[in-house]
Amino acid sequence: MERLHQRAYDQMRPLEFVLNVAPNATASVLSCFGNTRVICAVTIENAVPRWKKIQNVPGGWLTAEYAMLPYSTLDRKKRDSAGKQDGRSVEIQRLIGRALRSVMDLDALGERTIWVDCDVLQADGGTRTASITGAAVALAIAINRLIARGELTTNPMKKLVSAVSVGKLQGEALLDLCYVEDRDADVDMNIVMTESGEYVEVQGSGEEAVFTSEEMAQMLALATKGIASITAAQKEAIARADAPSAEDFNSLRDFFQTR
Ligand code: UDP
Repeated sequence: MERLHQRAYDQMRPLEFVLNVAPNATASVLSCFGNTRVICAVTIENAVPRWKKIQNVPGGWLTAEYAMLPYSTLDRKKRDSAGKQDGRSVEIQRLIGRALRSVMDLDALGERTIWVDCDVLQADGGTRTASITGAAVALAIAINRLIARGELTTNPMKKLVSAVSVGKLQGEALLDLCYVEDRDADVDMNIVMTESGEYVEVQGSGEEAVFTSEEMAQMLALATKGIASITAAQKEAIARADAPSAEDFNSLRDFFQTR
């Protein structure tokens, strides 16, 4: 089967992390999986939610919010407003929060709340996987900044986490589906994994179709391969986060000019 842009079945879309796009956040990243682009920003507050205090639960907390900007979709999507968030957004933000908390030692974070905001600038399939992946990069950078400022002594982020989609389309297992592939797919899976290859979450569903354990194994193998390359790109981005240069804005310009 021929994929859009001549992609091989096991090939990710071009992956890019444009850093420091929202400088008032503790750390921010524009996470790009091809034409899917999500602004992931991490803000660290020196307080914990009231319920933690009341219930006497030690340590910090991490919470995530997700929204699609109105112009991120092909047809304008009504803006999520307070109290009127759609069910899909709630489901996705809870997934992002769980994914990130799975690699955090919240006790080591101390009395802090980490706010993770994922806002979809452009949606072309896989916005939740681009959100988790970019948010993990922003989280790692934010924590490194706190350590550099002497506000934290131990690193509460135990390892990296990232996510990718896989699916079955016309009988073939594919990695990192774009919108058109996702729309036509018989099976759609979102896999969240740590950098050590452990699963954090597996969301898989047959859309008016079914799948065998053999097919599931094929899709999981593709996801594992994708996660390995995503992890390498995350590490590279985290390492260049505080390198003083205008490189990111240049790479942003180049990135957009090539598409
Ligand atoms: N989508 C859209 N409007 C919506 C929801 C989804 O245009 O209200 C598109 C968008 O391109 C999205 C894709 O459908 O990326 C797949 O959506 P899904 O719910 O599977 O989540 P995602 O793949 O983005 O994590």
